[in-house]
Amino acid sequence: MTKVAILEKIHPDGLKILKNSNLEYIEIDNYSENYISENIEEVSAIAVRTAKLESKLMKKCNKLRIVSRHGVGYDNVDLNYLNQNNIALAITGSANAISVAEHVMGMFLNLSKLFFYSDDLVRSGKFKKNRDMPVFYELYKKNIFIVGFGRIGKMLAKRCIGFDSTVYVYDPYVENEVIKKYNCIPIQLNEGLEIADFISLHLPLNTKTKDIISKNEFLKMKKNCILVNTSRGSIINEKDMIWALENKIIFGAGLDVFEKEPPNIQNKLLKFKNVVLTPHVAALSIESQKRMSVETCTNIVNFLNNNKSLNIENFVNRDKINLD
Ligand code: NAD
Repeated sequence: MTKVAILEKIHPDGLKILKNSNLEYIEIDNYSENYISENIEEVSAIAVRTAKLESKLMKKCNKLRIVSRHGVGYDNVDLNYLNQNNIALAITGSANAISVAEHVMGMFLNLSKLFFYSDDLVRSGKFKKNRDMPVFYELYKKNIFIVGFGRIGKMLAKRCIGFDSTVYVYDPYVENEVIKKYNCIPIQLNEGLEIADFISLHLPLNTKTKDIISKNEFLKMKKNCILVNTSRGSIINEKDMIWALENKIIFGAGLDVFEKEPPNIQNKLLKFKNVVLTPHVAALSIESQKRMSVETCTNIVNFLNNNKSLNIENFVNRDKINLD
């Protein structure tokens, strides 16, 4: 029987798909980098959430043909090893974009309306201090700057336009015509940083995007700017962000991702009131978890069975593998 390893728990709806396709699955809930087990050596497929999947483990799996990411980022997987060995890498392309886009809207609204501040007033018996609140903002007619116009960036743009905001986009790999089709305005990175009231980052982490927002970029931002990062922590230089917040260069930040996860409890970012923090959960609405689990397992089943309904768009390294 063909075997599949599932590293970290996924929603049972996906597991049903494996079962119905007569695939045997091994669930390894407590998987860590040093995990070694003979169990895994026989597998043809590995489903992986956020755990680091290195070549050390994959080298032991002689039958491995596909790694299926539960999510869309794949910086936790050794893609070089997969390419060298013609092992497919699939992602759940269409499953989590809405959940992340809504999370960004939540952070925009929480920060611009100072919910954390008002909540504190009510709880601490200072209701009547409501007239002394610091200024807070609307999204209406504000400039929203989206960096990275892929699946999530596009979903976010639609939602911001619903708030009558003006949406600017920087993505050198997307045609201006496509950006305009979504009623957004193409712009260069530096110009976008200068005019934005709200910025949201939706880039993959790689050598070009690491630290793309550093001290120089913060210096271009407006004082009322709210910066949200749900992509990968290292896209922003954390040291420079702490400096920008300490010096009130920007109004506030919303972070779902961190340079090091979990962040050190002493990390200064955890001390600012005007920084809203979530523990890498932007994609984890229950609807999105179900869709990701189903898509992770469907990718495996369709690939191993050479099924014609395989979603080719979900395969990151389609040039390196045989998808016939
Ligand atoms: P995507 O691949 O659909 O879009 C990424 C976009 O970034 C592409 O359009 C690409 O052209 C653009 N891009 C690449 N390099 C760029 C650069 N230097 N400057 C500007 N644009 C650039 O990916 P997506 O589904 O929109 O997800 C974006 C990222 O969000 C993922 O790579 C992942 O790391 C992260 N993510 C996080 C969560 C979470 O739970 N917080 C969930 C899903 C995705």
